[in-house]
Amino acid sequence: MPEKSTILIVDDELVSRYTVEVLLATEGYTLMFAENGKEALEKAAELIPDLMLLDVMMPGMDGFEVCQHLRANPRLAELPIVMVTALDDRDSRLRGIEAGADDFMSKPFDRAELRARIRTITRLNRYRRLVETDEKLVYLANYDTLTGLPNRNLLLERLRQTLGRAHRTHQKVAVLALDLDNFKMINDSLSHEVGDKVLCEIAQRLTQLVSEMGVTVARLSGDEFVVMFDTNNIVKDVSEMAPRLLDNISRPMTIDNHEMVVTASIGISVYPSDSEEASLLLKNADTAMSRAKAAGKNTYQFFTAKMNKVALERLILENRLRKVLANNELCLYYQPQVELSSGKIIGMEALVRWQHPDLGLVSPLKFVPVAEEMGLIIPIGEWVLRTACQQNKDWQRAGFPPLRVSVNVSSRQFQPNNYLLETIKNALTDSELNPIYLELELTESVLMAEENNQPNSIFELLTELQAMGVQIAIDDFGTGYSSLSYLKRFPVNTLKIDRSFIKDIDTNSDDAAIATAIIAMAHSLRLSVVAEGVETSEQLAFLQEQQCEIVQGFFFSRPISVKDMTQMLLQVDKQPLC
Ligand code: C2E
Ligand code: MG
Ligand code: MG
Repeated sequence: MPEKSTILIVDDELVSRYTVEVLLATEGYTLMFAENGKEALEKAAELIPDLMLLDVMMPGMDGFEVCQHLRANPRLAELPIVMVTALDDRDSRLRGIEAGADDFMSKPFDRAELRARIRTITRLNRYRRLVETDEKLVYLANYDTLTGLPNRNLLLERLRQTLGRAHRTHQKVAVLALDLDNFKMINDSLSHEVGDKVLCEIAQRLTQLVSEMGVTVARLSGDEFVVMFDTNNIVKDVSEMAPRLLDNISRPMTIDNHEMVVTASIGISVYPSDSEEASLLLKNADTAMSRAKAAGKNTYQFFTAKMNKVALERLILENRLRKVLANNELCLYYQPQVELSSGKIIGMEALVRWQHPDLGLVSPLKFVPVAEEMGLIIPIGEWVLRTACQQNKDWQRAGFPPLRVSVNVSSRQFQPNNYLLETIKNALTDSELNPIYLELELTESVLMAEENNQPNSIFELLTELQAMGVQIAIDDFGTGYSSLSYLKRFPVNTLKIDRSFIKDIDTNSDDAAIATAIIAMAHSLRLSVVAEGVETSEQLAFLQEQQCEIVQGFFFSRPISVKDMTQMLLQVDKQPLC
């Protein structure tokens, strides 16, 4: 059922209004009335009628004036107006046309004529609206409303057409998937309005850059754009186009007084070599784009079939990882930390392993980053904390001299709402381990992320942990920001020098200088130092000379299972390690 048309009848004479009402009574319109020009304008603005029947002769504001006012109002400029004049009043009709009337009728009304005219006008009006809505829908279905660029829908349609043409003409088609590198930061730190303006600016730059070449530029979603074109010289065109796009995007821009530089990463797939199917070409370009991001951003990367294999492996890994706790597939290995002055084991680092039914022992380097991205590191981290505390207590109960266990804590676990403090307290309470035998290893990034969390939240957390007796160690020291001010500000007990400096410590003078400086700095701040990754006696000798007090590495032992560790504890009890 089409909606009822609304007709606004404007006439100062009650009889005339009543006549129209009677004549149109059976036609199914919604009839509204106004007695003078002022009321007519008010009601028109409020109701937006489908048609106005407007008497010319009215006291005060006459019909011509009403008509002029309506035409000057953008919302009502298109309202169909039928002017009611005296019979054969030619002058009035001419003035009416000038004022913007669409049609004329004369009083007294002819019943049949009135009905027919009004029916025609309302039908035309309805039809026009339908067409408009339809056009709007078509527009919305194919274009991005923010930038006005084609959206995914239209891109896919054009891509399919282009592929069809390329197939016939033996041309190639390039699909460049482009994603802004730092967009989330702009959105978060400035505002979504600024973010929107940045997207519009990028859209404009892209369109300007490729306007003369018959290239499609589309916006898929958020900060993802696609540039697509066919060519018979793919290598030349793409290797010219990609750097030009990157250069143009990274030109400084000023939005709402914020000067900024935005960069992008581009992934490229090519028809027919990477796929003959539109959506797969898009997907492959997207995979290559992720690679370009991983390769350092502000760069471009061609798709290779190998990338698909990597993506698939990752998917399988993610699925398996989801069930890792339920399937009881994790275990902890322990690596001893040796005090150089006594040759005794004074602690050990707990290192998680995944006993994969098909792949065997999977290194944390492979699955911890994936678990971090998936958020799974939170339950996994909790499991590690609980297991390490429990195991340490078990060794103490078995009569071994008490040792400290170091547990790696991911920066994700430090984010607010992840209840790290509660988790640690529970692990300690449930295992009955004295907190002084627990050390947490965190990376510098945790301290640096403080500004993004609630201010002081990390500081307070670490202070509370330290007050409980828990030790805090900075892991992989030297690879991050390595700022002295962080070390001074945060409650920290231990620095662990990253393995990369130890590796060539006895042969590379830079590494030796860095390690020496870190040890001296730690000592001046009264922090203890652990050297990681010690594999040779030469490295050990160097560290001994620098008065590094604790070392950890394959030289003494690889990370080993609970059973092997128990064996080792039994032995060192009798004989020091160095
Ligand atoms: P990390 O905390 O720096 O751990 C030290 C890594 O160095 C361990 O690798 C250890 O096996 C290795 N390593 C120790 N001594 C030597 C040596 O002499 N030579 C060489 N080449 N390597 C040595 P692993 O066990 O593969 O762990 C890798 C990383 O995974 C760890 O680095 C840590 O960042 C992370 N990780 C391990 N377990 C956990 C965990 O329970 N939770 C979290 N969040 N991360 C963990
Ligand atoms: Mg560690
Ligand atoms: Mg480390």
